[in-house]
Amino acid sequence: ATILVTGANGFVGAWVVSKLLNRGYSVRAAVRTQSKGRHLLDTNSQYGDKLEIAAVGDIATDGAFDEAVKGVDGIIHTASPVTMAADDPKELIEPAVNGAVGILASALKHGSSVKRIVVTSSFSAVIPFPSPPVTITEALWNDAAVKDCEENGRNAKPMSKYAASKTLAERAVWAFHKEHKSKVTWDVTVINPPFIFGPVVHEVTTPDSLNSSTKLFYDGLVKGESHGQDPSKYPDGGWVDIRDIAEAHIKALEVPAAGGERVLVIKDTFVWQDFYDIANSLSPKPYHTLATGTPGAILVRNRKVNMEKAPRLLGLEYIAAEEMIKDTLADYVRRGW
Ligand code: NDP
Repeated sequence: ATILVTGANGFVGAWVVSKLLNRGYSVRAAVRTQSKGRHLLDTNSQYGDKLEIAAVGDIATDGAFDEAVKGVDGIIHTASPVTMAADDPKELIEPAVNGAVGILASALKHGSSVKRIVVTSSFSAVIPFPSPPVTITEALWNDAAVKDCEENGRNAKPMSKYAASKTLAERAVWAFHKEHKSKVTWDVTVINPPFIFGPVVHEVTTPDSLNSSTKLFYDGLVKGESHGQDPSKYPDGGWVDIRDIAEAHIKALEVPAAGGERVLVIKDTFVWQDFYDIANSLSPKPYHTLATGTPGAILVRNRKVNMEKAPRLLGLEYIAAEEMIKDTLADYVRRGW
């Protein structure tokens, strides 16, 4: 079977591509330009012509995926802008929504062999911010972020801009599928991850060029930035290892019962002190500089998440924090950072 993966040169996309190839799938990797596919071809050269690159340009453009969807059996759509630095919320909302609707519209027109489309959404499309003291489940929607952007535009909270883009994109996906259900051969599964951490396989040359979530991890564990403890800035949520997220996307393609489901894929909730403590307790010391935070500090833990669905539905067994931290720091050592 051939799977189209969008955002294939990104943190999540590149892991999904290599895991799919490893499992015997053929992959069409959608990136903006052919040159953005170079690193993928180099790092997956053992799979030969099972990997092809599709240059699709800007995902916000109408019909961007019209050619790329032709002949594929499944689609994993990870492409979406990830930054907390947008000025106008539209900078995030337009590509997120147009890209998500665009992939479904292309599949409607030209994807007669497609059986399932897996879309990467986010915890930020789920957890309202500021968050109410309720257990987080798949039933929640972050419409508060959309409202913040509607009311405050450029002055909306940075987190609201990204969260609104994910909320609106996911809502648009479900609405599009509902509207065209009778005419399509495929169904939809949505994966909602919290912070994704772990080693990277996409093209990264310096710590500063890491993607947002792994840069946050690097800045926390290595540089000791205590970003995690300010709930007004970073909502406490959860974390999951990138290798489990890649696995979740593939299982979401394969498991018949995953069709029509929205799935929170989370290993655990955390505060950054947990990671500092684990990193510093590892022996041998996994990295030359490690932040310590404030061991023993009493930190607010107010997050409760119902984590039951993903393991049950997708058969996931999660990588533990020790392993994620050890492997991530080993990745930095290998890179000479
Ligand atoms: P990256 O920034 O590493 O990857 C984003 C990908 O999307 C890149 O391939 C990027 O291409 C592509 N992309 C973004 N905007 C456009 C555009 N306008 N046109 C064409 N391509 C575009 O981030 P992640 O891999 O972390 O994110 C992947 C998905 O996972 C996103 O949907 C994100 O919201 C979601 N997610 C990520 C989490 C995390 O902690 N990392 C947590 C929860 C959800 P290019 O490099 O050319 O810009």
